[in-house]
Amino acid sequence: MKCLRCGTCCIFFDISTLNKKANEPCTFLDIPTGKCKSYEARPEVCRDFKTDEICYLISSLTLENKLFILSKVYK
Ligand code: SF4
Ligand code: SF4
Repeated sequence: MKCLRCGTCCIFFDISTLNKKANEPCTFLDIPTGKCKSYEARPEVCRDFKTDEICYLISSLTLENKLFILSKVYK
């Protein structure tokens, strides 16, 4: 599935290798475009995360609501 570049996963997850806390944007996330500014050097956890049906199901929601839904899906 094609990533919609909403950036939600780059905000939602706690990524210890990046010293990134949950629910805060990764410092490598270019928020306006949803692109990773360190794509080639992104850590394994980012490489392993795949776009799935949930990305599409929540695509029309606000970022706040997307984060809320992910908090329920990944609790
Ligand atoms: S939440 Fe899904 S669609 Fe949005 S950036 Fe991450 S992988 Fe892509
Ligand atoms: S390194 Fe790139 S892919 Fe990983 S969370 Fe940050 S912006 Fe997203």
